[in-house]
Amino acid sequence: MSIQKTGSFQGMKSLNRSIILNSIRVHGMISRSEIAKETRLTPPTVTNIVAELILANLVVERRPGTSNGGRKPILLAINADSRFIIGVDVGVKKVRLALTNLNAEVSMRRTEELPSGLNEGGFLLFLKEIVSKFKQEIEKGVQEKIIGIGVAMHGIVDHTSGIAIHAPTLKLENVPVKEALEETFSLPVRVENDAKALALGEKWFGVGKDMDHFFCLNVGEGIGGGLVQSGQLVHGNDSLAGEIGHTVVDLRGPVCSCGNRGCLEAFSSGNALKFKGKQLMNAGKAPKLTEKLRETLSPISGKIIYECAVEGDTVSREILEEAGEYLGIGILNLIHLINPQMIILGGGVSQASNFLLKPINEVVSARALSDRAKKTEIVVSKLGEEGSLIGAVTLVLSELFSHEY
Ligand SMILES: [Zn+2]
Repeated sequence: MSIQKTGSFQGMKSLNRSIILNSIRVHGMISRSEIAKETRLTPPTVTNIVAELILANLVVERRPGTSNGGRKPILLAINADSRFIIGVDVGVKKVRLALTNLNAEVSMRRTEELPSGLNEGGFLLFLKEIVSKFKQEIEKGVQEKIIGIGVAMHGIVDHTSGIAIHAPTLKLENVPVKEALEETFSLPVRVENDAKALALGEKWFGVGKDMDHFFCLNVGEGIGGGLVQSGQLVHGNDSLAGEIGHTVVDLRGPVCSCGNRGCLEAFSSGNALKFKGKQLMNAGKAPKLTEKLRETLSPISGKIIYECAVEGDTVSREILEEAGEYLGIGILNLIHLINPQMIILGGGVSQASNFLLKPINEVVSARALSDRAKKTEIVVSKLGEEGSLIGAVTLVLSELFSHEY
């Protein structure tokens, strides 16, 4: 299959091509001789493959600056706008869509409300419809340059078959997302759990860029996680690795969305915050929250609790701090289990980090086993609300650039 044929990268998937492409991507700009040195490929091999990549418009030559008095070196760079990717992030209530170039720079985005109560067939139909509508809105010339669709999906996902095995909140089982989208759009499709996609996005474009061992916690309506070890996402035996939200932090704690009792998710997720807020309001112990909901005519949410905390409400601040304390316990367990360089917090709840980080750090520094473990860096994702979406795009990019994923 020809490498020039857009929409298919079978031809680009040779090991050496991926290695060279990735070397150019990581460096931003690099010369042929530096690539040869770094990759240990022979200079003629590098020259030949680079010629193919230039012909395919994936790589361009640049002549920036001057070398020391000599000839200006010719450097190679990724031609970021030569290919495009559609990213899809399937949440519990919303589906976000984005069009990006090879640098994951978003040029178009849409958000669609996910209708509730869909069965497996209905969900696939909806997904196909919104992706199709989104694609049709893309300029014709760009449409032809789309090389794949990446889907980040809530729940347990088998990333090899692209089947959403179990999406508890949507009450869906065994949805063949990859197969259905590939059939409809004739493009390669990658599907991954949203927190794992986020972790991959962090590795490529976020704070995890220079890290080889880190864990990414996605704290939104639920809590998910993605483990990166030796630079690679870890899936475990059955795609379950990283499900930190359903590790138990209190045997007799509240019932979780999964049906078990005392999961971390039942204490620190957006849903848990809502539940706690409601409980306190019903008991007449959260007057400020009650007043705020009446004023804004909005339902209770993690965001409202955060806003009240910012406005100085002690009850709301305590709700967040308690959630932070439990997150700290979850993170402490992680530190002892995998000893990561860094913990990255993403998802909506992480936006309340000014209230969460202090209790998290207090738990870790009081209880971690070694001095170095006590100082494990805990940071907030900089990819923001679109983290999983960028991760979805990265699923496709990693297919193009990396031979390892
Ligand atoms: Zn659970």
